[in-house]
Amino acid sequence: MPPPLPVATIRTVVPVPLRLAGGYATAARVFSFDGLADGQEHIAFGLGDRAAPVTSAAGRRVPLVRPHSECLTGDVFGSERCDCGPQLREAVERIAGTGGYLLYLRQEGRGIGLYAKLDAYALQDAGLDTYEANLALGHREDERSYLVAAQMLQALAVSRVVVLSNNPDKVRGLRRFGVTVTARVPTGVHLSAANARYLATKARRGAHALDLPLSAG
Ligand SMILES: [Zn+2]
Repeated sequence: MPPPLPVATIRTVVPVPLRLAGGYATAARVFSFDGLADGQEHIAFGLGDRAAPVTSAAGRRVPLVRPHSECLTGDVFGSERCDCGPQLREAVERIAGTGGYLLYLRQEGRGIGLYAKLDAYALQDAGLDTYEANLALGHREDERSYLVAAQMLQALAVSRVVVLSNNPDKVRGLRRFGVTVTARVPTGVHLSAANARYLATKARRGAHALDLPLSAG
């Protein structure tokens, strides 16, 4: 049995209508929390049937949940050095279609922070891959933790989830903190000329379940 989680509670719930680039629109409920272990301002988006207040838990499907790590450059500005922006957008649409939660985790650059991520980009341009660059900067390959994600789910009264991700680490991370993951469904591969090397490295080094057309660009 995993140790009991530090208890987090829902702090506020507010409806936020979303309209993504391209015009896709959906309703969301945005949750903030008290008691998250690292003191950061992580938020959850309830989408689809979870965008409405719970009236009865009966008959609801196990929610589709994506733990999405913040990427300012990709999520907000459409950086093509990674695939975070398209992944986030796909996740919102797919979760809205099935019902579930997007957990927006404030762990930029695999947990090393925004400035360090930009430093790592500079090292990558000098020939290191994304993992080697993190190590060269004195960070671990991946410093993310899914403790706060598990706390958020507990506060949302969700104990069983289907995870939307290509990254088996996210499943292991949630299970480690007591979340029952009934299945993992992959996201699409968002390949561009600029992120091809990044995605190939992710597939090779991070054991991501990506099926990359290796001859592409
Ligand atoms: Zn990114």
